[in-house]
Amino acid sequence: MGTSRISAVCVYCGSSMGVSPHYAETAFETGRQIALAGKTLVYGGAQVGLMGRVADGALSEGGKVIGVLPEALAAKELAHTGLTKLHIVGSMHERKAMMNDLSDAFITLPGGAGSMEEMFEIWTWAQLGYHTKPSGVLNAGGYYAPLLTMLDRMVSEGFLKQDMRDILKVAETPQGLLDAFESYEAPKVMKWVTKDQL
Ligand code: AMP
Repeated sequence: MGTSRISAVCVYCGSSMGVSPHYAETAFETGRQIALAGKTLVYGGAQVGLMGRVADGALSEGGKVIGVLPEALAAKELAHTGLTKLHIVGSMHERKAMMNDLSDAFITLPGGAGSMEEMFEIWTWAQLGYHTKPSGVLNAGGYYAPLLTMLDRMVSEGFLKQDMRDILKVAETPQGLLDAFESYEAPKVMKWVTKDQL
């Protein structure tokens, strides 16, 4: 996409479908929008739940999709068979490291504990200055409203700085997040280190 520095977007999301069909629709649309923007989708490689829908959305527009699946989960999460590339790795740690290395930005869609762990890891690593890539939460159907309330509480109770809260973008649509990523600038002073020390 012209001058965009974001060529690959990682999506974290549920290995379940969720109750409302809106979640699956949002996942499919997120994949579509990433492909339509000319960007590669990087995700967990499964065909189950919202994970499968996001991949199908990108593939429906002829997008490039890279999956990263740990060996132990290959059977359980059922590898997607239509991907551009599927990496089978040895562990969950390798999966997350490879997804991080391959991606320039990170979207978290509705999901469970696995999605939360991934979202918090990439956000806290930004907070520490380990990387300068944008990340955000897609608040589909208001699913993440209680979490966002908790983040505000972290700020008001003095456990999270407002500028660190603000680096985690929030939008109601995939396009909203993709737009926010294009203008993202990592904070100059991280929680413990400055950019110069990276
Ligand atoms: P979930 O949101 O719980 O449905 O999980 C979404 C994805 O996160 C799935 O591919 C899970 O395998 C993965 N996952 C589950 N637990 C973890 C974890 N501790 N660290 C990273 N990913 C995980």
